[in-house]
Amino acid sequence: MLGLMQSQPLSISSLIEFAARHHGEGEIVSRRVEGDLHRYTYKDAAQRARQLAEALDALGVQPGERVASIAWNGYRHLEMYFGVSGSGRVLHTINPRMHPEQIAWVMSHAQDQVVCFDMTFLPIVKAIHGKCPSVRHWVALCDADKLPPDSGIPNLLSYEVLLAAQTGNYRWPEFDENTASSMCYTSGTTGNPKAALYSHRSTVLHAYAAALPDVMGISARDSILPVVPMFHVNAWGIPYSAALTGAKLVFPGPGMDGKSIYDLIELEQVSYAAGVPTIWQMLLGHMEPNGLRFSSLKRTVIGGSACPPAMITAFNDHYGVEVLHAWGMTEMSPLGTVCTLKSKHLAMSEEGKMKVRLKQGRAIFGIDMKIVNAEGKELPWDGKTYGDLLVKGPWVLREYFQGVGDTHAVMPLVNGWFPTGDVATIDADGYMQITDRSKDVIKSGGEWISSIDIENIAVAHPAIAMAACIGMAHPKWDERPIVAVVKKPGAEVSREDLLKFYEGKAAKWQIPDDVVFLDTMPMGATGKMQKSKLRELLKDYQLPDLR
Ligand code: AMP
Repeated sequence: MLGLMQSQPLSISSLIEFAARHHGEGEIVSRRVEGDLHRYTYKDAAQRARQLAEALDALGVQPGERVASIAWNGYRHLEMYFGVSGSGRVLHTINPRMHPEQIAWVMSHAQDQVVCFDMTFLPIVKAIHGKCPSVRHWVALCDADKLPPDSGIPNLLSYEVLLAAQTGNYRWPEFDENTASSMCYTSGTTGNPKAALYSHRSTVLHAYAAALPDVMGISARDSILPVVPMFHVNAWGIPYSAALTGAKLVFPGPGMDGKSIYDLIELEQVSYAAGVPTIWQMLLGHMEPNGLRFSSLKRTVIGGSACPPAMITAFNDHYGVEVLHAWGMTEMSPLGTVCTLKSKHLAMSEEGKMKVRLKQGRAIFGIDMKIVNAEGKELPWDGKTYGDLLVKGPWVLREYFQGVGDTHAVMPLVNGWFPTGDVATIDADGYMQITDRSKDVIKSGGEWISSIDIENIAVAHPAIAMAACIGMAHPKWDERPIVAVVKKPGAEVSREDLLKFYEGKAAKWQIPDDVVFLDTMPMGATGKMQKSKLRELLKDYQLPDLR
């Protein structure tokens, strides 16, 4: 027997309409490429999203066709989130930090019909527009008077001119909630990037879950700064959850350096911010020497790569900001776990709480997870046994978009579970801790060494800004760890002192065999350390006892 409740499909357009109706005066503030601060409301955003949908009709873009963005976090990008997806087209958010050739490749793979871009990225568009035959319209996210007269890009349109030509009397279409809404290509550390294709259903369910108190805890009283880019897994779904709750949104635009982020937090009284550890490192690096404090920031979600304990301590103890360590991936929309404490943890010592906070956290409702061994046998939740982490749930990828020619890409699931490629432990309370990417695991004398543990100890040293631990081939031990580090500006530490710093913090056999000092760390397009590049850089390196 079926239930007798209404079966209204879940839709992205309903999020912005809800925000406009119930939080119409709610603010959206954006630092623009133009250099100024732009302010408007959810009511304005909804109206302009409808105008964009109408403009796409006028351009002849069909339902299901892809409309790409190459843009910073800002209000026009937000309008694309709702206008493109809400009208039944698919928003393809492109990471501008990819190599231009790779951008052209993903555009062709996705068969993008329209590309909207911030003027910052004009050089990229100039370099690739001749290599993207599927693209019918290039749209600059700017006013008509900012369009360059001699761009060489045929029929370059101004976004503002397009919107101004519409009536604004648009009605959102209704369609199946499983309709595709947006897509994001993974960073593609090996081979070509692969795309996760999200649906209205997966996006709205994820937005609900993300807003829950023990997840991101987003409310109408928050002023949220998503520093995580809107081109990286939909800025962790924050734009959708903000509309669902009516929270104020503050967008940093191109200003991602420590000073710009700090100034924006203070100016807009941001209560809540989200980003990868690299961003927070830059923020703390600006605040510490200048003796600055936060007047409004209460919580920050840190994820995308492991959050070092030193960062959690700095935020919690020094600045009074609660850190929510979160884990997820492009293929998971992205949220999988968030580390919020249970009531049983509250009575613990600070040291005990810290041990919990360092974990990537517990699964949020909607995500099922388990760890398995090489034979696929499920492993115990004892907080010690490592295994491959598998997940499933309504916002976890089933298959990649058009992964033809690569069987893994077409159907990645293992008996219905998605293999994350992460290696983790899960404790009896359900707290998961990532120890490595499966390809980064270091095996020494038959025992595993967690590269994350080794990196965390290095960055706890006052002179170290960044650390990456990799395994080097060794004839006796199979592999031995070394740690590559970047020092903080003006700080000094010797190889011997850093190795000494490990004593008592890691087992003797886990202490790296060597330290390599780097001027800069190789970073990937999503702000994570790129160990593949580091290995390439150190291909002629010899371990001390093999020299
Ligand atoms: P991406 O799809 O680019 O977001 O990358 C997802 C991968 O980033 C995961 O599979 C993890 O390896 C890594 N990752 C994300 N969040 C964390 C975290 N909190 N700690 C450690 N690794 C993380």
